[in-house]
Amino acid sequence: MPTILTGDRPTGPLHLGHYFGTLANRVRLQREGADLFVLVADYQVLTDRDVADRLTEHAEGLVADYLAAGIDPGAVTIFRHSAVPALNQLMLPFLSLVSVAELGRNPTVKEEIGASGQASVSGLMFTYPVHQAADILFCKADLVPVGKDQLPHQEITRTIARRFNERYGPVFTVPEALLSDTPHLLGLDGRAKMSKSRGNAIALSATPDETARLVRGARTDADRHITYEPETRPEVSNLVRIAALCQGRDPHAIAAEIGNGGAARLKQVVIESVNEFLRPIRARRAELDRGLLRRVLDKGNERANAVADRTLAEVRAAMA
Ligand code: ATP
Ligand code: MG
Repeated sequence: MPTILTGDRPTGPLHLGHYFGTLANRVRLQREGADLFVLVADYQVLTDRDVADRLTEHAEGLVADYLAAGIDPGAVTIFRHSAVPALNQLMLPFLSLVSVAELGRNPTVKEEIGASGQASVSGLMFTYPVHQAADILFCKADLVPVGKDQLPHQEITRTIARRFNERYGPVFTVPEALLSDTPHLLGLDGRAKMSKSRGNAIALSATPDETARLVRGARTDADRHITYEPETRPEVSNLVRIAALCQGRDPHAIAAEIGNGGAARLKQVVIESVNEFLRPIRARRAELDRGLLRRVLDKGNERANAVADRTLAEVRAAMA
């Protein structure tokens, strides 16, 4: 059975991009028997802002979103990066295995620097893909279910694993990225990736009314006739796509049904589809209590520490 690792930054609630981009794959693989590790990437919050805000609240919110989406709390290892010091000790030798030029070429980091609006770029922003390599390699993950923005980071992780093994002997598994059919869901602006930090997301935990308000505010275009043409009509097509994902249907069929109904009808369909789809997830979330969320994190931190200490001992032995 494969070992799976994925993670999210505790910067806010998970959204539909997470669900269709990676969370659905995590749930499916766990049901098939995979050993699932989920990282709450708390240090990574500091890449594009000076201070990490409400970390514990957001971390517990992530755990609630995972369990609501169907992850089994009895079988998953959910842990916080900051609770596993061996991860940072792994980062040091890993940094020696990549060049400054390789780090500088990373298109996702470049885009995040642009979006952050920060006057200067920190060393952490520049090196976090290496830090992330330690988060993935410590548990010898075989598979990493991610969205498309993560592919450049996955390449750095694979490079580090290969170079370490060549230089010091075989310690690490070279992991594969697993993209879903929806590796890049756009936000309600129809322009950028749906992101917690960009204010363009529908959170899994949003209420039906909030969802309706967000969808009504989504960007569309002037053509009343609704079609699914992602290349030429990104805003309208993204809304059609969200409805299609939630209904498990073909986007062209949904667009054809709406036809000349215009943006108002399209938005109504999206609101109903999303609210229907999220109903069971929201209901499960409402039943979770904080005690359980904390116990899941405590248990996950403990197991992640044990696994990371073991890997660090192997690394030390290989490098001795
Ligand atoms: P932030 O804005 O704080 O960076 P985010 O919304 O980008 O938040 P992350 O925690 O950075 O979320 O990403 C967690 C995982 O979810 C990654 O594997 C990422 O590829 C995936 N993901 C995030 N947004 C989307 C999206 N819109 N479509 C598909 N996958 C996504
Ligand atoms: Mg992100």
